[in-house]
Amino acid sequence: MYETQKKAVIETALKIREYGLIALAGGNVSMRLPDGDILVTPSGTYYETMRESDVLLMDSEGNIKEGDLKPSVDTIALLYIYKNMPEVNAIIHTHQTNATAVGLISDKLPAVTTTLSNVTLGEVNVAPYSSPASLNMGIETVKHINGKRAIILKHHGVVTVGGNLKEAMYAAIYMEESAKAYLLAKACKEPDVLTAEQSDNAAEIFKDVGQSK
Ligand SMILES: [Zn+2]
Repeated sequence: MYETQKKAVIETALKIREYGLIALAGGNVSMRLPDGDILVTPSGTYYETMRESDVLLMDSEGNIKEGDLKPSVDTIALLYIYKNMPEVNAIIHTHQTNATAVGLISDKLPAVTTTLSNVTLGEVNVAPYSSPASLNMGIETVKHINGKRAIILKHHGVVTVGGNLKEAMYAAIYMEESAKAYLLAKACKEPDVLTAEQSDNAAEIFKDVGQSK
């Protein structure tokens, strides 16, 4: 079942891999289906050889309905996020270097570029440390994401969310670009940031960018 959606999950994973946001079998991609079931990438499996049948179908409690592999070890956190953020239908987790680095020196990635605000809807918080593969990873995400589409997990990586896979993917890729710009600037002096109005405006404008299909 859901071959098209499983394919979209793998294509999203390959896209973020193409941009260097995930290495080997790190991170995960998942989405919520209209009936409430969840598709999750498997644990410890390389994305470039992943097949549709490797993507797991589970109910909202994590009971596996399709798939023989073990799901991502972060599944307990992902299910918590889906349960507590009804507007979220896709989650991407990566260990992307630049955004993760920001989490080691700051409690947020400020809105330093319009691109960041376009995709994350503004500054991105850094959640306190939680163990990977723990329920706490989900709890800290929900607690600190503050209506944005991304959060940095201290000493770990990044979680991005969206109403669909594309929104979560854009948040991850463009946040990495903006995090890099922030770190480069910060090496010279404390970077200037957008005003709240400029940031909100950038988020608003981006809603009309691209082709509606
Ligand atoms: Zn991780």
